[in-house]
Amino acid sequence: MDLSLPSEALNWRRRAKAFAEEHLFPHEIELEMNGSLPAATLDRLRRAVREHGLNGVNHAREVGGQGCSQLEQTLIGEELGKATGALWAIVPHPAVALKHGTQQQIDAYLRPSCLMERRACVAVTEPGAGSDPRTILTRADMRDGRFVLNGEKWFVTSGDVADYLIVHANVDGDPDKPTLFLVDKALPGVRIAREPKFTHTYVFGHPEFVFENVEVGDGQVLGAVGGGLELTKDWFVEARLQIAANTLGAAIRAFELANAWASERHQFGRAIRDFQAIEFMLADMAVEIMATKSLVYRVSWEIDSGVDRKLVHARASALKLQASEMAGRVLDKAVQIFGGRGYMRENAVERLNREVRVDRIWEGTSEIQRVIIGGQLRKRGTDIFTGWD
Ligand SMILES: Cc1cc2nc3c(=O)[nH]c(=O)nc-3n(C[C@H](O)[C@H](O)[C@H](O)COP(=O)(O)OP(=O)(O)OC[C@H]3O[C@@H](n4cnc5c(N)ncnc54)[C@H](O)[C@@H]3O)c2cc1C
Repeated sequence: MDLSLPSEALNWRRRAKAFAEEHLFPHEIELEMNGSLPAATLDRLRRAVREHGLNGVNHAREVGGQGCSQLEQTLIGEELGKATGALWAIVPHPAVALKHGTQQQIDAYLRPSCLMERRACVAVTEPGAGSDPRTILTRADMRDGRFVLNGEKWFVTSGDVADYLIVHANVDGDPDKPTLFLVDKALPGVRIAREPKFTHTYVFGHPEFVFENVEVGDGQVLGAVGGGLELTKDWFVEARLQIAANTLGAAIRAFELANAWASERHQFGRAIRDFQAIEFMLADMAVEIMATKSLVYRVSWEIDSGVDRKLVHARASALKLQASEMAGRVLDKAVQIFGGRGYMRENAVERLNREVRVDRIWEGTSEIQRVIIGGQLRKRGTDIFTGWD
C-alpha cells in the first residue's frame, strides 16, 4: 500500500505554494488594514493566477480549466488556504453545477469563467431560508415564454465582483420545482440592496440581492427544471471539500507560526515551549492536524478512484465538520501561545482565528453536517464512516 503523493500532485502543490507566498501573503496586511485592495492590485493578482495556471482547476481542460484531480485540488486548496483575508478567493473555482450546462451555456459562462473573463456567484440563501434551502421563496414564473424572477438572496459571496449569478428559484413558486438560473447581473431588475460587514476580512463582499421582475429566457435554466436541489447539493459537496482543504492549510500555517514562537519567546528565563502547558498544546495541534490531513487526503483519493456519489456526499460532510472544527481548536490554541501578540491584527494567527469561524457556518453549519452524518448512519450503518475495504 503506497500512500505517497503522485509527483504530478506534488507539482501542483509546489505551484500553489509559490503562488500563495509570492502573490497572496504580501497583500495580507494591506487588505487587513484597508478592508479592500486597489483595482490595479486585483488585476495584477488575476494575471498572476493565469500565469501560474491556477485558474479553473476544478474543470476540464476542454472547457478552459486545468483538469485537476480531486487530490490535486485538495493540495492546491491547502496551500491557498494559508492566506488570510480570503485572498484565495481571487483564484476562481467556477461552480461545479456549470458542468451541467448546455454547449451554449458552457461557451457563454463556464469557459470564460475558467479563463477569468467572467465570474459567477451562487445565490441560494434567503432571509427565511438558510439551512433548509427547500423553503426558499424566490420564484420564477413563466410569462409569454420567458421566466420572470422575483425574490431576495442574502450572503452572496463575491456578488460585488461577479458579473452573473447562479440563482436558486422555484418555478411557479412550486417547492417541487427548484431550479437554477443563470442571471446576468446587468439585467434590469437585478439590484444589490445592501453590503453588510462581517467578522472576517474577505477580499470581496457578501452582498444582498433583490430580483424584481427579472426576465430570462428558458436558455438560462441550468440543468433541468426541478433539478436545482440536486445541483445545489453537488455544489455543497464540492464547497465542503474545498473548505476542508482551506481550513487544513490555515491550521498548518498557524501551527507552524505558534511552534516557532514557542521556541523564540522566553519568559521566566526559558523558552515557553519548555512549559508543559505550552508543549501539550503544540502536541495536540500536531495530532489534530495529522488526523485531519489523513482524512482529507483519503476522501480526495477515494473521489478520484470513482467511489459512489452518495458515499462522497456523506464523507464530504464528515470532512467539513472535522476540518472546520479542528481549525477552530488549533487556531484558538495558536492565539493562546502567542499571548497578547495573538490578539494583534498584524499577526496572521489573529486573522486566521477570526476567519476560520465562518467555516463552521457556511456551506452547511456543523449541526447540519451532523444531521447528514446521523441520517447516513441510520440509512447505511456505521461502516461507511468506520470501515476501510
Ligand atoms: C460569510 C458568509 C458567506 C456566505 N456565502 C453564501 C453564498 O455565497 N451563497 C449562499 O447561498 N449562501 C451563503 N452563505 C449562507 C450560509 O450558507 C448560511 O448562513 C448557512 O447555511 C446557515 O444558514 P442560516 O445563516 O440561515 O442559519 P439558520 O439555518 O437559521 O441556522 C441557525 C442555527 O440553527 C441551527 N440549525 C438549523 N437547522 C438545524 C437542524 N435541523 N438541526 C440542528 N440545528 C439546526 C444551525 O446549525 C445554526 O446554528 C454565506 C454565509 C456567510 C456567513
